[in-house]
This record gives sequence, C-alpha cells and structure tokens, in this order.
Amino acid sequence: MHRKEQIEATHTKPIPCYNAETKRKCRVVLRVPSLPADNPQQSEEASHMGGNANCGCRRCKAGGPHTVTETDQGYHAMHYAPITRMQTATGIKDKVAQHWIEILLKKSREIKANHPGRSAEDIKAELKTWFDAQPGLDPTRDTPVEILHTILLGIIKYVWYILHSGWTDAQRDLFVIRLQSTDLDGLTVPPIRAAYMMQYCNGLIGKHFKTLMQTMVFHVHDLVSPELFILVKAVCDMGAMLWVHEIDDMSQYTSDLKILIGNVLDAFGDYDPAKILLKIKLHLLPHIPEDAVRFGPLIRNSTEQPPSSEPGHCHEIRFHGPNEARAEWRLLEGC
Ligand SMILES: [Zn+2]
Repeated sequence: MHRKEQIEATHTKPIPCYNAETKRKCRVVLRVPSLPADNPQQSEEASHMGGNANCGCRRCKAGGPHTVTETDQGYHAMHYAPITRMQTATGIKDKVAQHWIEILLKKSREIKANHPGRSAEDIKAELKTWFDAQPGLDPTRDTPVEILHTILLGIIKYVWYILHSGWTDAQRDLFVIRLQSTDLDGLTVPPIRAAYMMQYCNGLIGKHFKTLMQTMVFHVHDLVSPELFILVKAVCDMGAMLWVHEIDDMSQYTSDLKILIGNVLDAFGDYDPAKILLKIKLHLLPHIPEDAVRFGPLIRNSTEQPPSSEPGHCHEIRFHGPNEARAEWRLLEGC
C-alpha cells in the first residue's frame, strides 16, 4: 500500500496500541505536518515546475519574465515573501487540487439531487465547511525550507565558490593554513582537513560547508574585498541563527532573522545583483521566518543526518564570535 494511503487509512481506522504512560489501550491517528526534502523534490510535491520556472518559488508567485523581474518593483519583490500565500487551488496544474475538485463536484451533485430546493450559496457554504474540516497536507505551505540543501549546499556553497575561485594560489595556501589552525575547542565538527577541502573545493559536502559557515569569517581577512567581507559576515551570521534547536521568544527570533536575511540579500545584491534573480534559494530565505513560526526550529526539517547518530543524541554547535564573545547553540540532531 502506498505510504500516503497507509497514513490516511489511520484517519478512519486508527492503529490500536498501548499507552505505557496511562497503562491503557489507545488508538493512534497519523498526520503528516510537513514534507522535508530538497528543493526540486519539494517543488514536485507542490506540483510546481521548479527553480528554473519563471516563477521559481513553490511557496509564492514571486518572479516572472525578465520584463517583470528586471524592473525596480519586480527586483525588489524577490527580496520578500508575499503575505498572501499561494494555495494549491489557484488554477495551477495540480493533481492534488484536481482530486479535491472531483470530490466536491460529486458531493455538490448529491446535495442538489437530494435537496432540489437549496440555493447555490447554501450548498457552497456546506461544501466549504466540509472541505475546511478535512485533514491533510497543503504542499505549497507544508514544504518548509530545508537548510541542508538551501543554506549549506546553496548559500554557503555560492559564497565558497566566489571565495576560492577568486584567489591566487598563494591566497588559497594562506586560507588553508588559517583554516587548519582553527581552534576546534567547543566546536562539534569533525577534524578539519583544510588542504583536502581546498584540493576538492568544488566537491565539498554538507559537513564541510557547516565547518566553513562557522569558521571562514575569521580566516578571510586581507583575502577579500570589503563588499565580499560583508557578504561572508552576513551569511555566517544568518547561519548561526538557523542552527538553533530552541526558540524562546518567537517574535524576537523572527524579527532578528528577517534582518539577518535582509542583510544577506542586500550583500548578494551589492556583490552580484543577478544572483537575486538567478538563484531561487536566495528568494526562499524570506520564507524561513514563516516556517519557524509554523514548524519551529529549522533543523527539525533538515534532511541532514548526523555522522554517527544514536536516536536522541544531541550534538552541540558553538559559534565563536569576535572579542571572545561566544554564542552557543545546541544542535539537536536525530531526535
Ligand atoms: Zn516565494
């Protein structure tokens, strides 16, 4: 049986089991709150054409043809998540919507046949009430931004490419020495193999980018232009805010995050304005605060696996700031 059908079957036939806490028999209904995946898969699940479409965002209608995105207004719009979210049933070719349209049409015909006197408005209201009460996913909303693919293998990877591709051999060697000398005390990252990372600079994986996100800002002085340094600081600042496992004050967190995301987009815009239009992962950033409100800390939706995960094992990430100021986050992985 298809996984989705197995889950939906529990809505009418809950799974019988035993509650060890209350020592009573109980039944369990499964719900799927979100669909964590990389961006192409999430687009597919949301019946969206993907990042190369004119409107490359699965979550909203940002973008459009060049005549729109290259205007001041269109370019500006790429920096924000619209307040009105795109719903599944707005007319896009959508198998999920089609499924529900057919059910609603059938119910409407049944109501009309059984109660010929009822007005169209009355039937519409009843169908809406029934539809709103249905459990289920809305893939355009329930595909939270996934930080492994969007941040580490997206934003951090872009910055890393800009850095190493612009350096001379001597500058690369200097960065390797500095990176290898990183004091790992307090960082839960695997031992740094700086020479390897530079040798295979175009083939790095998530753990390398996570190390770079936490450390590179301290190693690039005199190796970057002032604009590029602003960009490196902005992405590292934002990364540290995303790998949190608890959010104590949601309104403070989201308002801080919006500023940090704005800084990243502005820094990219200053360094390479075309990136804002070409890289849909940059446009996805403004959607992150609403995901934090809806789903909690972003690491919960990460498809990243800890290297040697025991269930419930906690990894700790510390971020060393300048002047020995130290902000500390615990990364809860595999929980
Ligand atoms: Zn969007």
